Amino acid sequence: MSKMRFRTILEHIDQGLIMTDANDCVRVYNQRVLQMLNVPENLLRGGAAFANVRNCQAARGEFAHLPQPLRRWLEEGDSDSMIEDYERSRPDGTVLHVRTVPIPEGGLVRTFTDVTQRNAAEAALRDSERRFRLLAENSNDIFILGDLDLRRLYVSPAVRTVLGYEPEELVGSVQLEHVHPDEQNMFTELWTKAQGEREGRFVASMRYQHKAGHHVWLEASVRVVREPSDDRAIGYVAALRDISERRRAEEQIRYLALHDALTGLPNRALFWDRLDQAVAQGHRTHGFVAMLACDLDRFKAVNDSLGHPAGDALLRLVADRMTAVLRPYDTLARLGGDEFAVLLTHLDLPSNATHLAEQLIAAVSQPVTLEGRTVEVGISIGLTLALKRDVSTDEIFKRADIALYEAKAAGGNMCREFEANVGVRIALRSQLALDMGEAIRRGEFRLFYQPVVDATTGVVLSFEALMRWRHPVHGEISPGIFIPLAEETGLIVLLGSWALQEACRVAVDWPDPIRVAVNVSVVQLRRGGLEAAVLLALATSGLSPTRLKLEVTESVLVHDADSVLASLHALRARGVRIALDDFGTGYSSLGYLRIFPFDEIKLDRTFVNDIARADSAAIVRAVVGIGERLGMGIVAEGVETAEQLSLVRREGCAQIQGFLISQPLPAHEAALYLAASPILCDGPG
Ligand code: C2E
Ligand code: MG
Ligand code: MG
Repeated sequence: MSKMRFRTILEHIDQGLIMTDANDCVRVYNQRVLQMLNVPENLLRGGAAFANVRNCQAARGEFAHLPQPLRRWLEEGDSDSMIEDYERSRPDGTVLHVRTVPIPEGGLVRTFTDVTQRNAAEAALRDSERRFRLLAENSNDIFILGDLDLRRLYVSPAVRTVLGYEPEELVGSVQLEHVHPDEQNMFTELWTKAQGEREGRFVASMRYQHKAGHHVWLEASVRVVREPSDDRAIGYVAALRDISERRRAEEQIRYLALHDALTGLPNRALFWDRLDQAVAQGHRTHGFVAMLACDLDRFKAVNDSLGHPAGDALLRLVADRMTAVLRPYDTLARLGGDEFAVLLTHLDLPSNATHLAEQLIAAVSQPVTLEGRTVEVGISIGLTLALKRDVSTDEIFKRADIALYEAKAAGGNMCREFEANVGVRIALRSQLALDMGEAIRRGEFRLFYQPVVDATTGVVLSFEALMRWRHPVHGEISPGIFIPLAEETGLIVLLGSWALQEACRVAVDWPDPIRVAVNVSVVQLRRGGLEAAVLLALATSGLSPTRLKLEVTESVLVHDADSVLASLHALRARGVRIALDDFGTGYSSLGYLRIFPFDEIKLDRTFVNDIARADSAAIVRAVVGIGERLGMGIVAEGVETAEQLSLVRREGCAQIQGFLISQPLPAHEAALYLAASPILCDGPG
C-alpha cells in the first residue's frame, strides 16, 4: 500500500491511533487521536517520546480517578504493568475504549475508540430491561410472551404463587392447555378475532388449572404483538391476574341476594324463581309439582319471651329438621320471619305431597330445648298442587297461602290443601270484620259461663265468661276466629267493655263469694281505658270488685310492659283479681310469674292434655310448686276425663275447669247449675 493511501485511510477512520517503537517513541499517529486525547501535536511529532503524552495527561490529573493497576500503567507506562484492553472516562465526559497491541519488532499500537454514545445507549437499554424485569418479576400478575401458536416463550415468576408452576415448566407449553374446558372455545374465538384486528386485544375471565389440579379464576388481558417494520402478527403478550378473591366476593354477594342469612336457605326471590321453573317444567314432564306454605305456630311467643337469639336458634333448628325430612331435590326456603315454603317436584302421586307435609309437621313439633327450657312449636302448612297449565306462579303462591290460613284457623299444627271455595271463606272473613260492628249493636254477642270448681270438693268457686257470636247468616262463629279479628280491627275495645258490663250484670245475681272471670285482650290493655271500663262495669252493676277476675295472657307482659303493669296494679289495688291465662303456651312463663303478683295461674289445656306424659306432669308439678310459693292459686283448664282429673289433682292443682265438669253455659243455665251445686260460703280459695 502506498504511503499516501495509508495516510488517507488513517485519517478517515473513526478511531484514534498511535504506534510507538521499541523505545516508546511515537512513530505513527492520526489527527483523530489528538482530538480524542486533547494533546498538542508537537508532543507526538518527529518521533517524540510517548512519555510526553503520558506526562501531559497525568499533569492534568486525567488518571487520578482511575483504579490501580490501570492508573499505574497509564502514568508510568512500564511494560510489566501493560493493560491491553480498557475503558476510561475523560474529564470532558467522553469514554474511550483503548486497545494496546504489541508488535513483533517491538513497540505498541494503541487504538482509541470513543464509546461514550454506545455506552450510554447500552446503559439505557440495560436500564429499561432491568425496569421491565423488575416489573415482570415483582408483580403479582403473570406476564407471558408467546408466539402465534400460543406457545409460551417467557413466563414471569408470579406463576409460582398463582398457579404453582416454576416459570420454566411452562415455557414451551401452549396457553390453551391450562384453560378450563368450559372457557377454551371462548378463548380461541377471542384470540382469532384479535389477530384480525389492527390493535388486537381482549380481556377475559377464565379458569386456569393450578398445578395441584384445582382451577383458579384469572383475568387474562391478551394483546397481539406485531413486527414494527411490516406490522405482521408475530406473537402475543398476556397479563394474567388472579381474581379468585373478587370472584369469591361476587359469588358471596350473589349468594346473599338469593339466600336467607340466618338459615342459609334459599330466600323468597330464589324460591319464586325455582317455583317458576318447576311449574314450566312440570307441564312438560309428568311429575307433579306442589308448593307448601308453612308458618310456625307459637313462634312469636317463644321469640318474645326467650329473646331473639333463642328465636333464631329455633328457626335454624326448624330449618334443619325440615331439611332432614325433604328429598335432596326439594327446595326449602325461608320467606321471612317464621314463614317457610317448600317446593316439591317429581311427585309420582299428589298424595306424596300430603305425606311429606305430615312428616314435616311431625318433625317440627318434636319438643326443643332452648336455654334450658323445653319448648314446643307447631307448624301449619298450606298445600297446593300445580296441576294445570293455566295456573301462574303468582296464583300458586296465593293458593298455598289461603290453604295455610285455613290450617291456622283450624287450630294449627296441621296441613290443609287448597280448595277453591276456601277463597270464598277468606272473603267471608273480611265480611265478618265488617259485620261485627253491626253485631254489637244488634246484640248478636252473648256470654256463656263455664264453672271453675274446687279440685277436691267440687264446690263451684267461679265462672269464666266466654263470648259467643251467632251470625244471622253464617251461624255460630268460634271466638278463635272473631276475637283475633276484633283485635285486628280494634273492635275488641268496644266488645271487651260490653263483656265486662254483661258479666258483672249477670254475676251480681249469684251468691256472694262466687266470682266471674272475664277475658281481657292485650289490645284492650295497650289501648288504655281498661281501668275506666272495669270501674264503669262495677259501678253500673253494683258488683264488688273482689268478685271480679280478669284473665290476661302472658303476651300482655311482653310489650309496653310498664304501662300495662301499672293499670293491672291499679285494678288489683281495688280488689279485682288478676289471673294469668293459658299459662304454658308462651313458655316463658316462669320468669313472668315474678314480674306481676298474679292471683291465679290458669294452666293451659295442652298441659292437661299431656299430663299422662312424665315430662308434662313434671312441668305441672313445678308450676304448682312455684305458684304455691308465690301465693298464686292454680287452675287446670280443659279437664276432659276422669283420668286427667285425678292426675291434675295428684300434681297439686287446686281448681278445675273443663268439659268434665261442665260445658260453658248460657247465663240462665249457669244460675241453675249453681243452684244445684254445693257452695262454699267462706269464700273461694
Ligand atoms: P280461654 O280463655 O283459655 O278459654 C277457655 C277455652 O277452653 C274456651 O274456649 C272453652 O270453651 C274451652 N274449654 C273449656 N273446657 C274445655 C275442655 O275440657 N276441653 C276443650 N277442648 N276445651 C275446653 P272458647 O270459648 O272457644 O274460647 C276460646 C278463647 O277465646 C278463650 O280461651 C279466650 O282466649 C278467647 N275469648 C273467649 N271469650 C273472650 C272474651 O270475652 N274476651 C276476650 N278477649 N277473649 C275471649
Ligand atoms: Mg280464659
Ligand atoms: Mg285459657
